[in-house]
Amino acid sequence: MSSSPCVAHVALLPSAGMGHLTPFLRLAAMLCHHHCYVTLITPKPTVSNAESNLLSKFFSAFPQVNQLNLHLLPSSSHTANADPFFLQFDAIRRSCHLLHPLLSSLSPPLSSFVYDMTLISPVLPVATAIGVPHYILFTSSASMFCFYSYFPKAAESISDGDGIDIPGFSSVSKSSLPPQLLDRDGIYRKIFLEDSPKVTKLHGVFLNTFEEVESKTLKALNAGEVVKDMPPVHALGPFVPCYEFEGLGERGESLKWLDKQPNGSVIYVCFGSRIALKSNQIREIGDGLVRSGFRFLWVVKGNKVDKEDEEKGLEGVLGIELVEKITKDNKGLVVKEWLDQRQILDHSAVGGFFSHCGWNSVMEAAFYGVPILGWPLLGDQKINAEFVVSNGGFGIWKKDWGWEGERLVRGEEIGDAIKELMSNESLITKAEQVKMAARKAIGVGGGSETNLQKITEQWKKSQ
Ligand code: UDP
Ligand code: UDP
Repeated sequence: MSSSPCVAHVALLPSAGMGHLTPFLRLAAMLCHHHCYVTLITPKPTVSNAESNLLSKFFSAFPQVNQLNLHLLPSSSHTANADPFFLQFDAIRRSCHLLHPLLSSLSPPLSSFVYDMTLISPVLPVATAIGVPHYILFTSSASMFCFYSYFPKAAESISDGDGIDIPGFSSVSKSSLPPQLLDRDGIYRKIFLEDSPKVTKLHGVFLNTFEEVESKTLKALNAGEVVKDMPPVHALGPFVPCYEFEGLGERGESLKWLDKQPNGSVIYVCFGSRIALKSNQIREIGDGLVRSGFRFLWVVKGNKVDKEDEEKGLEGVLGIELVEKITKDNKGLVVKEWLDQRQILDHSAVGGFFSHCGWNSVMEAAFYGVPILGWPLLGDQKINAEFVVSNGGFGIWKKDWGWEGERLVRGEEIGDAIKELMSNESLITKAEQVKMAARKAIGVGGGSETNLQKITEQWKKSQ
């Protein structure tokens, strides 16, 4: 490792789940390409196999990245029934004090520290004691960041009010509030309320978004309209799926199947890395896909965490009758395994994406220009779906479907919505425009690329 004064040394600390890990690894790759020396702190053990697999691939592709294991203290028992990813947020938070000796002895000394949005309170004292500029990577949209930073001001009134009016932004209706925030004893709400008022103590906030689609929101945040004394908020996205560690991938069965389908004819269905719908809802989706008459590639998830499951095969989840219907028509492919979404969205046969609107998925769809049928199921996803429909303009969202489990959405409704998405030429045009804007933002001289260039230059100068 060079100890040249011009090399910036950046430490990165992601939190649990692919939705947090993936953007951190993509940012790490970008920083390597900007000639920074990177230390990646890895909380151990990970929750899912998907996370440990991705980490192995990352460290093989980037052997120059310094890995620091953060051995987690066990989670507290009173939250034993909570979501495993939230429990891991909590475990990482309670282990952050272990970071001080790890980070203060690094050589060359750190120029900056970038950590996950769910770790502000416990990391602040560590970063302050080391005396290093520190930033969060907020792994959702600028819109969600507005809501996040303003929320504590409105928290007490949300149970009786209609929603939240955010100065400089728009309002977030009561039905779009992340449902976990309404659970007064839940980990998600606790972290939100404890951390959000501390955003003003950060040196900056990084977002996986780009000016062209969230310009007004970014302007309002940076003008201090949402929260006074807001530190600089930098749009650095969309984070591009990184071939070096996400691999060129083997061309598995799904890609071979896609190769045989006409251009733009397939709807790809995937609700991210951590949502497992109830089996009656899964069957309605299958029914809807068959009814739509379109070709489909459907990733079914039987369990929240990929470690637990695996004994139940496809027939066990879908039922023999539905599997027979799907195979009879030969129009669809259903898989119950991790697919490389990047390769799917990049395939010319894919013409639509039925998605839960996880922010990484939204940015990936923007980057590859694929229109979205959004079904937000939890957390920030309705705020993201609103972005897809209003800012991006490259998708549709049936608001009356509700959150996960709010009601059973019937196959007929799903089939109709898929037909609506796949037959709408203007969505294809809009998605193509968003794709162009996304590529411009991260290209040479683009807004996001310039932002990253400026920040890394600043770190290098201060070394
Ligand atoms: N993903 C994937 N294959 C899958 C499911 C998910 O590659 O079968 C990736 C997807 O491309 C995205 C991430 O996992 O980068 C999921 O993040 P997102 O924010 O979309 O949703 P979350 O999983 O956090 O709900
Ligand atoms: N925009 C934003 N946040 C929003 C709404 C819009 O950042 O909540 C940005 C986004 O970049 C969009 C642009 O403002 O492309 C224009 O938005 P709008 O639909 O309001 O069009 P206008 O009539 O202002 O041109």
